[in-house]
Formats: sequence, structure tokens, C-alpha cells
Amino acid sequence: MLRFDVITIFPDFFREAFDYGITRRALAAGLVETKVHDLRHWCTDKHRTVDDRPFGGGDGMVLKADPIFAAINDITGFRRRGDYPKDTRVVLLSPQGLVFTQSLAADLATIASQIVLICGRYEGVDERVAEALATDEISIGDYVLSGGEPAAVVVVDAVVRLLPGALGSETSATYESFSDGLLDYPQYTRPPNLEGLHVPDVLLKGNHAEIARWRREEALKKTERNRPDLLKDSQV
Ligand code: SAM
Repeated sequence: MLRFDVITIFPDFFREAFDYGITRRALAAGLVETKVHDLRHWCTDKHRTVDDRPFGGGDGMVLKADPIFAAINDITGFRRRGDYPKDTRVVLLSPQGLVFTQSLAADLATIASQIVLICGRYEGVDERVAEALATDEISIGDYVLSGGEPAAVVVVDAVVRLLPGALGSETSATYESFSDGLLDYPQYTRPPNLEGLHVPDVLLKGNHAEIARWRREEALKKTERNRPDLLKDSQV
């Protein structure tokens, strides 16, 4: 059982976020559990203040560290990064983080039994959270979102589908994009002719060796066209 704890100032964002498809099935099968926590629960002042002005000046507001420290202590049972067991990961979602990849998703799916996801807002999160609490600082891509909530949904989805038993067939994830350093091959379904757009002949003939060869070639072509950087890093 892998447990996700999401810390956010907008818990309603997640009301239905995990109620679809593979995540829903994994929840129903008891492979995962998701808990969404309102950061305000750990604010002690009358107004339940989650943010404050940045030291040194500058635009906007910063999420305060102290409620996040209290939240992590309650949720994990530990006060600092060095105290967590190896299978606890505390992820700070941030555009300044390591870019999230399939291999990082696989690492989390293999190692973790608890993943805490901290969603930032405004100008970001007091850096002491990255310094003392986060085991991982993760960005879902080189762009800036208004908050970590969409990124948390991305991380949960990508990790859950890699858990043994989460996909209908155990082998499905093996053939997806990135699993072998290439993008996936093109897929087609009925009808074979759509307004003059034909499904490639090779897929209709049932010769499995030829189909496998064609798919490999097409995967390579697509990777060359859309993601040549993947070919540089891979052994293919
Ligand atoms: N001032 C920050 C910067 O320029 O690096 C951006 C803060 S952003 C507006 C607010 C929050 O959205 C961040 O604290 C983070 O939690 C989340 N966020 C934004 N972009 C993200 C990304 N690419 N990946 C993950 N989280 C992101």
C-alpha cells in the first residue's frame, strides 16, 4: 500500500482528482490511499495565515514554513528530513526542482510507502522547507504554474500507474513511451479508412514480426522528430 499525503491551501481542488481511471481502480483495490490536508489546519493564529511578505522585499507573498513544519511532523511522525525512514519521501513541488521523468516516477513507485506532496502557491515556499524537510524538489516541466496542485495530480497519476497490479495488464507500462528510451509507436483503431486516411497496411496483415519491426521504426522516427534529446541519452 502506497500512501499519498497532499498538503495544500486549496483542498477542494482535489475533490474528484483521484476519482478516475487507473487511480480510482488502484484506490478501490487498496493499492494506494490518498489523503488531502488543508495547510490552514496547522496555522495557529486567529486568521489561519498561511503566507507572509518576503524578507528582503519583492513582489507577492510566500508560504510560511512553520505550518508546513508542523504538518510534516504530524503526517510523517518526524521533524526533519534526516529522521524519515527510507521509504518516506517528502516532495516539494517547485519549478526550481528536478524535472519529473518516468525514471523518477518509477523510483518513487518502487521505493516509497509514503509520499507527501507539498503544494506551493504565490511566490513560492519559504526555502527552509526545501532545506530541512523535502527529500525531493520536483518540477513537472519548464514552465510556471500558479500552484503545486496540478503538479501533485501529475505525480500521483504517473506513480500509481507504475505500481504492480495498477494497470489491467502487468506488461502495459513496459511498452509505453520512455520505458525503453523511445516514445511509443503510433496506434490506430477502426475504421481502417477514415475519409481517405488509411491505417498502415502492415497493421492489417497480422504478421507479428513485421508489425514489431514497423513499430520499432516508427517509434524511432517519432522520437527523432519530437524528442531527439532522448536518443542522445539512450542506448538504442
Ligand atoms: N516564484 C517561483 C519561481 O519563479 O520559481 C514560482 C512560484 S509558482 C507561481 C507557485 C507554486 O506553484 C510553486 O511554489 C510550486 O509549488 C508550483 N509550481 C509552479 N510551477 C511548477 C512546476 N513547473 N512544477 C511543479 N510545481 C510548480
